[in-house]
Amino acid sequence: MSLNAATHPEDDSRFIVEAQFYEKLPYKKTRCKLCPRECVIDDRERGYCGVRENRGGTYYSLVHSRVCAAHIDPIEKKPLFHFLPGAPAFSVATAGCNVNCKMCQNWDISQSRPEQVRSTYLPPKDLAALAQQNRCPVIAYTYSEPVIFYEYMRDAAEAGHTVGIKSVVVSGGYIQQDPLKKLCHGVDAIKIDLKAFSEKYYKEIVNGELKPVLDALVTIHKLGVWNEIVYLVIPTLNDSDAEFRALTQWIKSNLGVDVPLHFTRFHPEYLLKNLPPTPLETLERAKAIADAEGLHYVYLGNIPGHPAENTYCPKCKHVVIERIGFTIKGTHLRKGKCEYCQQVIPGIWQ
Ligand code: SF4
Repeated sequence: MSLNAATHPEDDSRFIVEAQFYEKLPYKKTRCKLCPRECVIDDRERGYCGVRENRGGTYYSLVHSRVCAAHIDPIEKKPLFHFLPGAPAFSVATAGCNVNCKMCQNWDISQSRPEQVRSTYLPPKDLAALAQQNRCPVIAYTYSEPVIFYEYMRDAAEAGHTVGIKSVVVSGGYIQQDPLKKLCHGVDAIKIDLKAFSEKYYKEIVNGELKPVLDALVTIHKLGVWNEIVYLVIPTLNDSDAEFRALTQWIKSNLGVDVPLHFTRFHPEYLLKNLPPTPLETLERAKAIADAEGLHYVYLGNIPGHPAENTYCPKCKHVVIERIGFTIKGTHLRKGKCEYCQQVIPGIWQ
């Protein structure tokens, strides 16, 4: 979507707000408390994500309302399968990210500084109004990593709620507990990319850590925010039976069997162009393991037309939401229940 994109001077004050989570240190240094990286930053320097800057001992976000990507996507593309099926989501991003995944699909914005990409000033009320004008019942914070534009995301979610528009977060979940808890009180769903189930992978492929992401999932679950998990299966890196089993057992023990889990197909991208796309058999093996562990809603993604795109009632096994790709072909839900056997299907349906 064109937003009449325009570049702005580096110091455009409209984009700059004081950061909500940091502490002041001696000698005008600051320590960021937004994500587990906890960057310590000297005056006039920025944190790892490139969008937060120390100016004279005060820490600022440089990307409030500084939107570099805006599109209307089906909510299924996020993917969220148990959240307003078929709804168009007004989706926005700013530059920057707090990790550097070797398979990133949006590296051109995630690994850029704000002044390196074309951006538009889109304050929260205008974003909510634009979503309304485009008949989108939901705003999605996505494409790069919304944790790094935290202040904008929270303000936009609040502006959306005042006019009846929901907010969903599409994140890697690399965030500290305090900001996460506050975020949970202001948004309607969070999709977490759980990129692997090993610290080694997080260290070598993501440049992050697994443990804080698992802690984030537990907190989201405890606070009752609707959550779905995506696991991008990459040949040779995170595709063993043992890892699929450990992942699904952890989900079952810590989050329960009703959290939707999406195994999605990898396509060679960015710094992992040397690896092939994920074979279908690998994805089906992952699903078989998760099904055998007892998870109720295990999906396969990036394989349009596969039967594992549908939602099945865990009790009577009928299809309750039929999908092809991101398109809804039919629903058999009535007030959140299977229309055949009245089993409650968890999710946000209206
Ligand atoms: S949000 Fe950015 S500045 Fe803050 S700790 Fe994380 S990477 Fe560092």
